[in-house]
Amino acid sequence: MRFEISQVPSKKCKEIVQNEFKYCHKHIKYWLNQDYTGPDSITKTTRLLEMATRTVQSLQQEARRAKTTDIALYQRKSKVIPKYHIVVEMIQSHLTSLTTHR
Ligand SMILES: [Zn+2]
Repeated sequence: MRFEISQVPSKKCKEIVQNEFKYCHKHIKYWLNQDYTGPDSITKTTRLLEMATRTVQSLQQEARRAKTTDIALYQRKSKVIPKYHIVVEMIQSHLTSLTTHR
């Protein structure tokens, strides 16, 4: 199985991401294609997907809690949640391509 290694963008990423992630929703596919294609890639990608899913869930929880107490925080959280949805979808589709290619 071969993956096309896309060039990592030279411009520094300006997106603010959770500590768990090295790259934002725009750049995560480069990271996946570089570090998540080895022999243990299915296990690694599955773990990453679980972690990303938990991150989205906890962001949603925090947003729900903040809705009645801190509207600014609620708006900040609500703005980033769709980005992590994209991250989860990217990881999911990477995992799908890993499992269907062997
Ligand atoms: Zn980025």
